[in-house]
Amino acid sequence: SVPLSFFGGLGAASRHGILMKGSNYLEAMASLDTVVFDKTGTLTTGKFQVTDVDPVEGTKEELLRLAAYGEFHSNHPIALSVKEAYGKSVDETLIGCVEEIAGYGIKAEIKDGERQQGLYIGNARLMKQKGIEITDQGSVTGTSLYVADGSRYLGSITISDTIREDVPMALKGLKAAGVRKLVMLTGDKPEVGQAVGEKLGLDEVHGGLLPGDKVGKVEELLSRKQEGHNLAFVGDGINDAPVLARADVGIAMGGIGSDAAVEAADVVIMTDEPSKLIDAIAISRKTARIVK
Ligand code: ADP
Ligand code: MG
Repeated sequence: SVPLSFFGGLGAASRHGILMKGSNYLEAMASLDTVVFDKTGTLTTGKFQVTDVDPVEGTKEELLRLAAYGEFHSNHPIALSVKEAYGKSVDETLIGCVEEIAGYGIKAEIKDGERQQGLYIGNARLMKQKGIEITDQGSVTGTSLYVADGSRYLGSITISDTIREDVPMALKGLKAAGVRKLVMLTGDKPEVGQAVGEKLGLDEVHGGLLPGDKVGKVEELLSRKQEGHNLAFVGDGINDAPVLARADVGIAMGGIGSDAAVEAADVVIMTDEPSKLIDAIAISRKTARIVK
């Protein structure tokens, strides 16, 4: 049976905007060994700014338009930023079949004048898989989005994300609370992951991961954690529901509005502030003291 004071703990957490799906998760928060973060939408705001549009043929406007049409049905943070940068309304009747490939990007049929374009919009991994050669440099620092029409490479769009304001404080607080290892996993390219990891002083960073690779990494980290301690994974739920489920405690940012996140998670941070993790640990430890 569940000690009554745990209900008090769950209530205290919910008043802080932290929803816990059970007292066992509240209890587990008292002894975290490893906290693993997803990058996009978790450590970063997921509100990307388009910083560069570099067509190798056609105009910037045209490249951005094609990307916005292809991304129209996607809720991925990258898609939202492309649509916002385009800023014009989209004629949905021109959009045919669209396929979103997690960790890769989008394949979309766009009716453009007389042409039926089979567009690919995504990362270098997608271009490589489709045998499309990226003929320009692209950006080193930002997240690159490549656009191709069939096998024809059209150009790149660079977007950059910003670190959430309270993240440095959150990470410092976690270390102070005794968390041994802070890790970031990302499907973004390794260079972008490294840059964010160095800025934040994380213990480990792994980039270029597919959703399935993230599960593998979490399993490896679970096998390396201290006996009797727990691993938490913190994500936004977009492409990371399987890892949320695999961690001892799966924690999701609830504000982005991903139902998948809220469903797959054990704990939901309604305010999207990673620093709430520190409150959760404090409430957990206080509750455990009362129970004992
Ligand atoms: P993260 O691990 O940083 O949260 P994701 O796993 O959601 O990132 O996505 C990994 C990568 O897959 C992105 O950086 C992007 O290159 C590509 N990608 C995923 N979805 C899309 C999309 N809708 N449009 C373009 N690229 C995408
Ligand atoms: Mg993600």
